[in-house]
Amino acid sequence: MAEEKFDVIVVGAGPAGTAAALTAAKAGLDVVVVERGDYPGAKNVMGGVLYADMMSSLIPEFWKNAPLERRIIEQRYFLVHGESAVSIGYRNPQYANDPPNNFTVLRAKFDKWFAEQAEAAGAFIITETVARELIRENGKVIGIRTDREEGDLYADVVIIADGVNSLLAKQAGFHPEWKPDQVALAVKEIIALPKEVIEDRFNIESGQGVTYEFFGQVTNGMVGNAFVYTNNESLSVGLGVMLADLVKSGLHPYDLLDEFKSHPMVAALLKGGETKEYMAHLIPEGGVDAMPPLYGNGFMICGDAAQMVNALTREGSNMAMESGRIAGEVAKLAKDRNDFSVNTLSEYQRRLEKSFVLQDLHQFRNTTKYLEHNQHFLSLYPELADMALHEFFLVDGASKREKIRRIMDRVKQKRSLWRIGRDFYGLYKNMK
Ligand SMILES: Cc1cc2nc3c(=O)[nH]c(=O)nc-3n(C[C@H](O)[C@H](O)[C@H](O)COP(=O)(O)OP(=O)(O)OC[C@H]3O[C@@H](n4cnc5c(N)ncnc54)[C@H](O)[C@@H]3O)c2cc1C
Repeated sequence: MAEEKFDVIVVGAGPAGTAAALTAAKAGLDVVVVERGDYPGAKNVMGGVLYADMMSSLIPEFWKNAPLERRIIEQRYFLVHGESAVSIGYRNPQYANDPPNNFTVLRAKFDKWFAEQAEAAGAFIITETVARELIRENGKVIGIRTDREEGDLYADVVIIADGVNSLLAKQAGFHPEWKPDQVALAVKEIIALPKEVIEDRFNIESGQGVTYEFFGQVTNGMVGNAFVYTNNESLSVGLGVMLADLVKSGLHPYDLLDEFKSHPMVAALLKGGETKEYMAHLIPEGGVDAMPPLYGNGFMICGDAAQMVNALTREGSNMAMESGRIAGEVAKLAKDRNDFSVNTLSEYQRRLEKSFVLQDLHQFRNTTKYLEHNQHFLSLYPELADMALHEFFLVDGASKREKIRRIMDRVKQKRSLWRIGRDFYGLYKNMK
């Protein structure tokens, strides 16, 4: 690879990097993307939920051509205790219409297609190449060093979108290794099942999908959750918990996933399925307090590399795409001004502050920590909810007044009403 100079180098062809490359290339910039996988998505084997609003702002009417699995018409949360669960959800078949709200994808297919759109817009994608370090000159980032012979690349601006393990951000000293309370460890399987079986089991039509999220005993009360998402001919089944909790518990994530899969309610959904893929991955959950500097002279950092995940709403891909899109736009602004210093690139942070990305991350900055310090939300409260609803629905000749008295007595034995009030007020305050 000969030494070359571009307007923009993007490192990583995940949702953040491809959104940045597509935006910058569409704006007429000379863009190169460096991706370590054999093809974009090759290393990103997760299935998951993506969001249409973000995609539409990048590729209008993308759903006509993109390799989507299923459009989500029902999202349901289960609070699990023992063999039972309290659930709440929302189902609306209109979400299957154009434009969809959110949808499942298999990243190996979706990322590849998404990157092809960036290529069609003019971005040059180099695969099977690892960006090893940033090249700096006079306090400014001017390029990257890759693992290829003579593989140095130069650009006016480098967009760092290499995911949670960001080699570049760590190597450049923007942040140290993530601490165990700043990342969750997720394990996940793709379980194949015939299309008709999935549609029958989840009560959906062709093209429609559901997301089920499970909290409480499935993670042994640790902060995190488990999930089942429907793809066309498979289910994405996984579980993630804060690494710090996991280390303290001494439990192995695969054991937790196996236990989750054997829960009677989940086993019935997976019955007859065959595991096709298996993966483990970190999810950045440190939020704004763990963020590296988002920009500097000659660089911007997007997506997981910048800790942009809202774990409470399972939104990482859309924050990645939004930050990538904004970085692409700011690269164009910098080109127009011929100024790639912090003077112009600080616009990246300003625009992120006006978008849902930093607004949501600021709003929920303390929520995960609050739950970590108040683990009864995921252990005692599922137990109490189970007891209360079991008692309420059990027809045993007792009057409803008597049932409510029994429920209140048992609740008070476990935790005073005053403390319960304080717990939920604290949660409310930490989500404001
Ligand atoms: C199990 C699991 C389930 C999830 N479910 C959801 C979900 O349902 N919805 C949702 O919105 N989010 C979900 N997320 C989070 C979501 O996957 C991420 O937030 C999102 O992928 C971040 O995009 P990104 O482009 O920043 O990083 P990534 O998707 O990680 O992409 C980074 C890219 O950079 C490449 N790369 C890395 N290092 C280098 C290097 N040195 N040189 C060259 N290339 C490099 C990688 O190969 C990769 O292609 C989930 C995460 C996990 C682990």
